Amino acid sequence: MAILIRDCTAITMGDPLVRRGVSIAIEDGKISKISENPQDFEGTHFDTVLDGKNKLVLPGFVNAHTHLAMVLLRGYSDDRNLQEWLEQEIWPAERKLTEDDVYWASLVGIAEMIRSGTTTFCDMYFFMDAVAQAVKESGLRAVLSYGIIAPQPGEKAQRELSVTEKFLREWHNGAEGRIRVAVGPHAPYTCCDEVWRDARALALQYNTIIHTHLQETLAEVNESFRRYQKSPTERLEALGVFEAPTVAAHGVHLRDSDVATLARRGVGLAHCPTSNLKLGSGIAPVKRYKQMGLRVGIGTDGAASNNNLDMLEELRLAALLAKRDDPTALPAAEALQMATQSGAQILGLEGVGHLAEGAEADIMLVNTSGAHWQPGHNPVSDLVYAAQASDVETVLVAGRIVMKEKEILTFDEERAKANVRALSAKYRKL
Ligand SMILES: [Zn+2]
Repeated sequence: MAILIRDCTAITMGDPLVRRGVSIAIEDGKISKISENPQDFEGTHFDTVLDGKNKLVLPGFVNAHTHLAMVLLRGYSDDRNLQEWLEQEIWPAERKLTEDDVYWASLVGIAEMIRSGTTTFCDMYFFMDAVAQAVKESGLRAVLSYGIIAPQPGEKAQRELSVTEKFLREWHNGAEGRIRVAVGPHAPYTCCDEVWRDARALALQYNTIIHTHLQETLAEVNESFRRYQKSPTERLEALGVFEAPTVAAHGVHLRDSDVATLARRGVGLAHCPTSNLKLGSGIAPVKRYKQMGLRVGIGTDGAASNNNLDMLEELRLAALLAKRDDPTALPAAEALQMATQSGAQILGLEGVGHLAEGAEADIMLVNTSGAHWQPGHNPVSDLVYAAQASDVETVLVAGRIVMKEKEILTFDEERAKANVRALSAKYRKL
């Protein structure tokens, strides 16, 4: 299947960052040619030609941290702090979850992500076989982890780890290589030392990453000092966890010594500014983190704490929040870099998050004919500061068109939405 995107403006995330009047050829799931010269494409038969006129073409977003099926609990409990929200509202509701709920909610979440230009996401949840099935059918790329919660060593902890290992065996590198399975101890405060040691061993054995939450609230950091006389980062470092590649969500409350450890270990941070603001957790100082060498991507977190999965909104908020005391902090191109290539890099995904010959063809076409795109001085600024998710028109993942002119082609979106509405009744409080 060969596809040509003809005569567009492209944001490559490489050098040069913006190329006008280029065409992009896609063959066997990868970008085979990018050129301003039409003659370079002569002699190749293309099954599909997408017109690039009034289109901005860029790599799909990489959502570095979410809980996709929490779509089911969107609007279920808001305006509370993290601990109350989790313990009194979310965890009791999640005990009612079934595999069917997670499958349909995942498809609805995937529809929402495709419609806002996301082509890769990093997920942590339960009933992960159902999430993987939704990824397989929808055509997206994903790093999936079962969320291990085991505060005490023993039988339950081992059961949680065996669920993870079964998921690794069945789905790691599945769906034509679009699915990677990560090991997902939920957080330092929900997992005992035994789980952390075994999680590290599993990640190394299967050549994959650890996905967790880290130092999201000040209360979590204080409690860790009380129990272990260490920050959560110091505790995980002492357990050897970071010998496995690790992606940690939030990191709102990292001390400089924690940041230095995480940077030295190459740990990636998934910055989730909306969720941190909404749960009152604070604002991660990402400019300082980046200056200290920490690798940072952007995530939406789940739809129960955001409350959407719109990466365009998330990267704009990240850019604006970083400027609260310095307008030069996190320029548009840097925020976009975090939402694309840096996100892919911290997830260990080669060839994802940029447009280059040989790279994965994970691409969005954005319609720039709207009034809010005029006059078009700087496509990067326009995208980061002015674009709307509804401008995303066509999306490809691994060279396959998953949405064309706003129609999702890989699954029945209306059916998924209707099922989620019906299934949500059992959670309803109002
Ligand atoms: Zn999370």
